[in-house]
Amino acid sequence: MAIEDDVCVIGGGLAGMTAALRAAREGARVRLLSHKKSTLRHASGLVDILGYADGELVADPFDALPSLPETHPYRRVGDDAVRAGLSLFDDVTGDAYRGTHTDANALVATHGGTVKPTARYPTRVAPGLASQDRKTLLVGFDSLTAFDAPLAADHLAAAGVPGATRGVTVAFPGDFRADSRVTRSARALDDDETVEIANGSMPVRRALVRAVESHLGDAERIGFPAVLGEEESQEVRNALESALGIDVFEVPMGPPSLLGLGLETLFQEALAEAGVRRTTGNPVVEFDADDGRIRSVSTDRNGRPTPFHADEFVLATGGLVGKGIDSDREGVVEPVFDCHVPHPDDRYEWFDDEAFGDHPFARFGVTVDDDLRPLDAAGGTEYDNLRAAGSVLGGADFAAEKSGSGISLATGHAAGRAAGAAANQ
Ligand SMILES: Cc1cc2nc3c(=O)[nH]c(=O)nc-3n(C[C@H](O)[C@H](O)[C@H](O)COP(=O)(O)OP(=O)(O)OC[C@H]3O[C@@H](n4cnc5c(N)ncnc54)[C@H](O)[C@@H]3O)c2cc1C
Repeated sequence: MAIEDDVCVIGGGLAGMTAALRAAREGARVRLLSHKKSTLRHASGLVDILGYADGELVADPFDALPSLPETHPYRRVGDDAVRAGLSLFDDVTGDAYRGTHTDANALVATHGGTVKPTARYPTRVAPGLASQDRKTLLVGFDSLTAFDAPLAADHLAAAGVPGATRGVTVAFPGDFRADSRVTRSARALDDDETVEIANGSMPVRRALVRAVESHLGDAERIGFPAVLGEEESQEVRNALESALGIDVFEVPMGPPSLLGLGLETLFQEALAEAGVRRTTGNPVVEFDADDGRIRSVSTDRNGRPTPFHADEFVLATGGLVGKGIDSDREGVVEPVFDCHVPHPDDRYEWFDDEAFGDHPFARFGVTVDDDLRPLDAAGGTEYDNLRAAGSVLGGADFAAEKSGSGISLATGHAAGRAAGAAANQ
């Protein structure tokens, strides 16, 4: 029997999940097709709207949005869509995130010792805001080389954050293999497992307190890498806070990021609650269209195509990292619908000479009309019932701007609302 839905979203990252959720809340029957894991597990779990514009630090993203180029995704959808996307995010994440009280960016210390301007940050991170003038101790684990606490503390001091910051590296208690995944130590803290230490054994939370308490000095708060529990992180932090007598916070980490994974889980739960059907594990490889409309897309499972029919489609397959945009010697392509991706013919014009320069390739992606419908080379819409959202869109360098999740939320929300409303007509 043919699989029929009102709206079919392709891509299970933040943009696709937002679009699917918004379309479902519009009353549409929604299917979400996703090939692999999204970039959320690589991401910090912070939700940036706009941290930098023209290389300058942005204090309030909403003040800076009008200064962005006309072709920027935020300018396509408008301020209201950015607020609506954030509001959906707040609704999904509830108490797990902070930052709703102000439009201004918060400043969060990263595991590299830089300060990140961001709009929403996990509650686990909140007591560590870099803007607060409090004496801080950062604690790294010798088994977790991605976070060098003394070096991060030096960088933060050099960056001029208020309040003295010190860093120390300790051994994570217990006999975990040096290369064991961060989820292993997080789960040990969740369950407060008994671990072997010198002269005996004790619960891991108590052992961790023992390992750090001699380093506290006059610290008013203590920051650990974001591995303090997976399911029970609040309970873990409460236990450490009451034993140490100061605030405990976590520092966002790179992959595999427990904060990014936690965010993904919250959205997946919201999708299930909204009745969105998720089909994962196989890529969309082809489609059928006639009369300027997509009729169906097909996933490929070991050479066997499975078609999915819908009235409206949303393309949210990610950018160059997620392979929603791909390049080879011939040029830059959008592989699912072959939407037009503007780019210079000469490959040497894709890059800046400076490694940290302004690289044009970072802005490559599909261009869209005000309804987020991809445009062809002549400026006409590719298909009447196809919209695009997230980092498959061109016109923004999300890594330089610090705008990745914000663009996904704003454009995912706008595309999902428009697709849901169109399907209802
Ligand atoms: C290393 C890293 C760090 C980041 N840090 C931050 C940060 O600190 N703050 C911030 O705000 N943002 C950050 N971001 C950006 C953010 O996490 C997302 O990358 C961004 O929101 C884009 O999401 P997306 O949904 O457009 O794409 P993606 O997350 O790339 O998701 C695309 C999805 O589409 C699927 N897909 C692709 N092709 C197909 C196909 N043919 N068929 C079916 N499915 C397909 C993929 O498998 C994937 O599930 C970071 C990103 C990266 C990569």
